[in-house]
Amino acid sequence: MTNKDTISSPQAPVAARAPTPASVTRAYAAQAPQARLAPFQIERRALRPRDVQFEILFCGVCHSDLHMARNEWGQTIYPVVPGHEIVGRVTAVGDKVTKFRSGDLVGVGCLVDSCRECSNCRNGLQQYCTVGNVVTYSGRDRINGDITYGGYSKQIVADEDFVLRISDTLPLAQVAPLLCAGITTYSPLRHWNVGKGHKLGVVGLGGLGHMAVKLGASFGAEVTMLSTSPEKEEDARRLGAHKFALTRDAAQLKERAGYFDFIIDTVSAKHDYNLYLRLLATDGVMICVGAPPTPAEVAVFSLMGGRRSLAGSGIGGLPETQEMLDYCAAHGISSDIEVIDIADINEAYERMLKSDVRYRFVIDMASLR
Ligand code: NAP
Ligand code: ZN
Ligand code: ZN
Repeated sequence: MTNKDTISSPQAPVAARAPTPASVTRAYAAQAPQARLAPFQIERRALRPRDVQFEILFCGVCHSDLHMARNEWGQTIYPVVPGHEIVGRVTAVGDKVTKFRSGDLVGVGCLVDSCRECSNCRNGLQQYCTVGNVVTYSGRDRINGDITYGGYSKQIVADEDFVLRISDTLPLAQVAPLLCAGITTYSPLRHWNVGKGHKLGVVGLGGLGHMAVKLGASFGAEVTMLSTSPEKEEDARRLGAHKFALTRDAAQLKERAGYFDFIIDTVSAKHDYNLYLRLLATDGVMICVGAPPTPAEVAVFSLMGGRRSLAGSGIGGLPETQEMLDYCAAHGISSDIEVIDIADINEAYERMLKSDVRYRFVIDMASLR
């Protein structure tokens, strides 16, 4: 069923409660690539029959938020309200919502809609919708063309098919980063069946990297942290890494040449992919999830020797995101976070640029007054 069907449905019950009207909502936005994020008012749409409205309690800060706020990927629509690691409590639902009710703990990740009809959407791979999905912020609503606004705000409205169930067994603030950092690392680890008997290297110990370490270790792989920051070694081991290598030290890299079955590269800035490709064993796969704005220079010789593969992976679809949330709840896995007030978001971005976050900033939305 498409969104179009749902909004034009002639069978809406006449005696339904009054529809929740569009509502003015406090948020933080960037108005231009060089602008700091600052208070801004947005309008959340009146509830459609299958919409869920929820109060945002916490929102994680992804490096993609920074890339987007500053238009580093060249696709930002301003004003941009970033935030796609969103958790909160349902305040209202449309007449035809069946999966949620007021009071439920819920989340929204990187997507709020997709075509629902292409083969990828039918297979639960909405992140690869061939028609074009709708991202949570800086996208365009499929029905009215409005700009989508993300989680640096007090409340959000989204179609129930793009809303996730959140268990109350883990601290809510620590669950928020699972909605992007969690699923973006869970999905490739599952796709390539990484687990027992595999040697996994994780490049970059930030938001994505620390979730890759936790999940990789939980799936039974031997995990090596490949980091530029020597001071993170102790944390890497505490998070589940069995080994640590300083990537700025050529000798430490040489020692691991041809070692890994899989490498997950989470680096956000320009770096040398060839350096890491050489660490792969025969038939090894390096999976890029980090998204530096500049194209990579890959020497084919890094791939030919050892029949290596260079692959990419983008977030995850809705069914797999729910599966990941349920897996994390069952196994007590959540993010290591630093909770911040929204007024500190610009400083948080600067710290993130210096690789100085342990290991995800999460905004306490009560600070947005
Ligand atoms: P983050 O928290 O800032 O972590 C990035 C880490 O990369 C840093 O902590 C640092 O770790 C390492 N690093 C930074 N600059 C480096 C450099 N020049 N050379 C080598 N290592 C460097 O960022 P994040 O939120 O995890 O996001 C990482 C990237 O993934 C971003 O580009 C983001 O846009 C992208 N992303 C992609 C998807 C997807 O669907 N594929 C989803 C979400 C995010 P060390 O200190 O350990 O070296
Ligand atoms: Zn993200
Ligand atoms: Zn589709």
